[in-house]
Amino acid sequence: MDSNDVHLSVNIDGIPLFKSSNVQFWPILAKCGHFGPFIVAMFSGQKKPSPIEEYLEDFLTEYKHLKDNGIVYEGQTYSVSIDALICDAPVRAYLKCIKGHTSYESCERCLIRGARFDGRIVFSEQEFTSRTDDSFSRVEYRNHQIDVSPFIAAGIPCVSSFVLDYMHMVCLGVVRRLLFYWTRGPKICRLSVRQKDAISQKLTALRGKMPSEFARQPRALHEIDRWKATELRQFLLYTGPVVLKTVLSPERYTHFLSLTVAMSIMLESDDRIRKAYLQYAHELIKHFVMCCADLYGKTFPVYNVHGLVHLHEDASHFNCSLNDISCFPFENYLQQIKKHVRSGRSPLEQVTRRLSEMEHSEVNVSKMHPEVFASVKERDCCFLLRDDRFAFVRQKNADGTFACEILHQHYTSPLFHQPCSSGLLNIVCIGKGQVRMKNGLLCERDLFRKVACLPQGTGGSVLIPLRHGVEH
Ligand SMILES: [Zn+2]
Repeated sequence: MDSNDVHLSVNIDGIPLFKSSNVQFWPILAKCGHFGPFIVAMFSGQKKPSPIEEYLEDFLTEYKHLKDNGIVYEGQTYSVSIDALICDAPVRAYLKCIKGHTSYESCERCLIRGARFDGRIVFSEQEFTSRTDDSFSRVEYRNHQIDVSPFIAAGIPCVSSFVLDYMHMVCLGVVRRLLFYWTRGPKICRLSVRQKDAISQKLTALRGKMPSEFARQPRALHEIDRWKATELRQFLLYTGPVVLKTVLSPERYTHFLSLTVAMSIMLESDDRIRKAYLQYAHELIKHFVMCCADLYGKTFPVYNVHGLVHLHEDASHFNCSLNDISCFPFENYLQQIKKHVRSGRSPLEQVTRRLSEMEHSEVNVSKMHPEVFASVKERDCCFLLRDDRFAFVRQKNADGTFACEILHQHYTSPLFHQPCSSGLLNIVCIGKGQVRMKNGLLCERDLFRKVACLPQGTGGSVLIPLRHGVEH
């Protein structure tokens, strides 16, 4: 990134304040790299702000001024641009003035046309023409655009700048859909009571084993209606591959893993690794989407499932991990805003007062780097080193160094072999007692990446490097 540029990501969402009334906030939030999120503007009312032009007017006028003139700080001028708009699908439809995600031509990236089946719009085609920013700004998509989005006049490319947020599309969308189909879906894929119990037992056995970076520990399947987005992500990337093994049919297990592997690649923060495997991730996703209807029935491939085939476009266009362009940090901040409202009287004033108090008391609450928790406790002791060996912290020394046991991958085995060896993601199994470790002294910067070390019933453990930031 050019140091003279301020690249903003913007999030807009509605949050209901109380269960007993319709009062809702519609904040406009922004984030710049690791700085933020912060509030740009806020609307409070009984329903979604309307007309949209009025809601966005001040924001887009201010943005136009900043875009044309830049921002001057300590004598230096910085250019300002909104690079990404990060919202869930209903808000994207509202902001872009397009049809909702339950309509025939709802895909924001291509011209695929859905078909109605059993009361749902499903997508079965595999080949499609891409939408372009130019055609969108000329309002040429008559079956998709219902009005002229105010973002067009602001010069924001409405196809490529609106991110297909993976928190909603993948975690709350496809992963939750899979869990619903396994637990209460059609007969062709619904699991038996015994299979569901086996998965729940394995999940609850992992309680207390997830590293401190996780906000929550695994819960049993009967609670899936209450699973949060972070728990669904935890299932997709870490616990799912462990607890589904030998319970799901081999075909469905491999199918699930193709989503795990593809998402792990697109969430990879190392640019070099992510770029090298991005095309492979896309191929895996295409395979995942293509096989869905056969494995889960014709009602499965709805909007979110089709949208998976476009995720690699965002990783490529924004040249970053999907983590850096997700709703997760904004969602977390929205919950904080909500906590500032204590009563139904003048909610906007309550939040404004509390935020200005915080601004005066805290210089900067957001941290530039995620914290690394290293301890001798089992759940926080395992790390991946840059040479792909694993280190287990056995003692923290007063001089800041760590006495470790170090394991070469040669003495490990893959957790799975299809669709690729899990070793590609440094996901491996270690047996009990037969592990050959060397002693070594390491410092903090050697501990490249935290690893979840999940015990298996057999006595060994599965090691899975973390691919997402610290949860709160
Ligand atoms: Zn599409």
